[in-house]
Amino acid sequence: MTAPLRLRLDRGGLSANWRWLQAQSGHAACGAAVKANGYGLGAPEVVQHLLAAGCRDFFVATWAEAAEIEPILPQDASLSVLHGVREEDIAQAMASRARPVLNTAQQVARWRPTGKPCDVMLDTGMNRLGLAPGEDLSGLKIHTLMSHLASADEDVPQNMQQLDLFQSAAATVPAQRLSLANSAGICLGAAYHFGLTRPGLALYGGIPRGEAVGAIQPVVGLEAQVLQRRVLPIGQSIGYNATYTADRALEVAIVNIGYADGYVRGFSGRGTAGGGRLPLLGRVSMDLVALDVSATPDIAEGDWLSIDFHLPDAARQSGLSQYELLTLLGHRFDRIWA
Ligand SMILES: *Cc1c(COP(=O)(O)O)cnc(C)c1O
Repeated sequence: MTAPLRLRLDRGGLSANWRWLQAQSGHAACGAAVKANGYGLGAPEVVQHLLAAGCRDFFVATWAEAAEIEPILPQDASLSVLHGVREEDIAQAMASRARPVLNTAQQVARWRPTGKPCDVMLDTGMNRLGLAPGEDLSGLKIHTLMSHLASADEDVPQNMQQLDLFQSAAATVPAQRLSLANSAGICLGAAYHFGLTRPGLALYGGIPRGEAVGAIQPVVGLEAQVLQRRVLPIGQSIGYNATYTADRALEVAIVNIGYADGYVRGFSGRGTAGGGRLPLLGRVSMDLVALDVSATPDIAEGDWLSIDFHLPDAARQSGLSQYELLTLLGHRFDRIWA
């Protein structure tokens, strides 16, 4: 069955973005954060395409996410579970070749007796997940030692402070390789790359910093079908709470996408379709939006329209981050890779 809304997902764009991030990463290997269902695009397909491009290091948040992609990973690929290992995860983790990223002393104590390899997250100032530098890591087989940058999308002293702390802490820990940079961190330069980088956002077409403008390609296109074309007479309003009133007679297309699909209410009165030609009128509903199609008499019931979703612009319009816009994309889309 064909849904009345679809994501056009560009495999070539995804691969090109990974290759650019790999080139920017210099001597470091370039991995991929595929948590949250591949940032909403579909983790299994994302992993398959990145494997074909040459990526071998993947990051998910939870063991449920790991279970979804482990079966498609070749023997030479590596999978890390960023949230570490809870008591409830131990059985799955023991049977898996994914490595937990240990974040707490309790997780270290839980994993040490297994004798299996792990990764370790050091907290260098984000104060989210991770062990403090200097905590007891004895008896662990540490594959990748990592930390995470809090503000790499800004030019602030915190970046270099975290870099310095990571460098000095890592010098005292035996690990096969080191990793610090997310998408934005890759753009901060060679000092941040170490042995492995971990981009997410930029793989999927997000622009983490100015350096990526013109290099990172869009991957996600939104399309939705016209359900009805109607006339909006002068003086009539449209949609919930009548926030838009026609100051001249308009022609309107009612289109099958809404906030339940992740096309959030922040696009009300601001979003556009058709490359800016079709302004959104009034509020975004749960399942519908109204577009002004007065200038395009050929658009008819059943036609497919492309909803503008250039991530930096869409973030400004909606008030959400590029990350939220991607990960909110809902289950009702057909996800079509080409
Ligand atoms: C999500 C995540 C990444 C990827 O970050 P982006 O900003 O999307 O590139 C890298 N490392 C960790 C620990 C993460 O949680």
